[in-house]
Amino acid sequence: MTVTNPKGEKVRFDLDEFTLNNYDEFKDIIKQIPGHEFFNMAKTKLNSIGTMQSRNAHYVPGYNIIELGKGHNGISTFFHEFGHNKDWLINSDDYKNVIRGDKQFIQVYEKERGAFMKEFPTLQRDFISYFISVDNLQSRGNQNLREVVAETNNILSTPNQGDGLEFRKYYLQRYFPETIAYLAKKLNPDIYINQ
Ligand SMILES: [Zn+2]
Repeated sequence: MTVTNPKGEKVRFDLDEFTLNNYDEFKDIIKQIPGHEFFNMAKTKLNSIGTMQSRNAHYVPGYNIIELGKGHNGISTFFHEFGHNKDWLINSDDYKNVIRGDKQFIQVYEKERGAFMKEFPTLQRDFISYFISVDNLQSRGNQNLREVVAETNNILSTPNQGDGLEFRKYYLQRYFPETIAYLAKKLNPDIYINQ
């Protein structure tokens, strides 16, 4: 399959290679991928999608693969994990040049995070500790910034809410609108060609 980005550049994307000749297993996901994300997948040179034994899902930098476990094998999880891939590689081939390190992103996110923390009691914060926690900054390498980038890609790429994880999308979408607007451009650099 050949895909064309808004700049008119054509890129080949090989579905058989991508699904490790296991197309049937992933066809429900593949059929829901919007066109611009195929171009992004070609651009980041995402190697393959596969399955894993545990119930989790992950993106593996270095190998540049996404693996989905049982119970986390839907389109919503795929786009979250693909968000991690784009964080590393959509703007640069260099693994050091990540979106989560972008100063303006951090500034916009911290402003909205501050407003959220002021307004909401601890209980509600617990729902999205994944996105707002800074307790583990050192030990987990800016996990909150990583997860905001990944989940924003999920929000932007599919209306599917993800089984049992709807609240994550909901809170991020409702309380971090400027963060999402800023990341939309960073996550899809070839679509916002006039900015
Ligand atoms: Zn994640």
